Amino acid sequence: MPQSKNTIRLAADLQTDSIVDGPGLRTVIWTQGCSHHCKGCQNPQTWDFNGGGEVPIKDVLEAIDELEYQNGITFSGGDPMFQPEACTKIAKYCKDKGYNIWVYTGFTYEEIIKMSKTKKIYKEFLKYIDVLIDGRFVLKERDTNILFRGSTNQRLIDVPKTLSSDEIVLFDESKYLEEKNKVTRKTYV
Ligand code: SF4
Repeated sequence: MPQSKNTIRLAADLQTDSIVDGPGLRTVIWTQGCSHHCKGCQNPQTWDFNGGGEVPIKDVLEAIDELEYQNGITFSGGDPMFQPEACTKIAKYCKDKGYNIWVYTGFTYEEIIKMSKTKKIYKEFLKYIDVLIDGRFVLKERDTNILFRGSTNQRLIDVPKTLSSDEIVLFDESKYLEEKNKVTRKTYV
C-alpha cells in the first residue's frame, strides 16, 4: 500500500538506552522494509515493505521530544534508505535538537551517492548523518569483535568529513576507544 508523505513505516517502537548501535546511550528508530535479504540477517521480520506499522512522523518527533539522557539517535532496520524522505525529516529534527545521528544501511556509500544523482533526497539525508554504517551483512565476513557492525566489509563512515573531502573518511575508532577508556577509568578510579 502506498505510504503517506507524513508517515514512516516502523518495525517497532523507538528503543531507548541502546549501547550497541553507536556511542553512548542511544535511541534506535527501527525502520521497516529491506530488499537486501542478507544471509544471516538478524532482523528478517523487518524485510516486508508492508510489515510493521505506519506511524505519523509527528508522533515520532513527539517521542523524540520526550527523550531523556540520550546521546544520539540511530536509524536501523530494515534499511532506512528505503524511506529517505521520512528519515530526512526526522534526522533534521534530531540534529536541530543536538543529537548526533548514526545510520545503518545495506547500501554502500558509493551506491547512495549514485542514487542521489537521480533522487536528491539521499544527499539531503546524508547532510544530517554523522556516521553511516554501510554495506550488506556478509555472513562469511562476520566478526563479533569489530565495533558497532556485524561483518568486516561494513564501514563506519564519517559522513561530514567524507562529504567535504570527496573521499571516504572513516570514523576514528581508536580515538573513540581512547575517550571511552578515559571515561571508564574516571568512573572506577
Ligand atoms: S541490510 Fe540489514 S536489515 Fe537488510 S537484510 Fe541486510 S542485515 Fe538485514
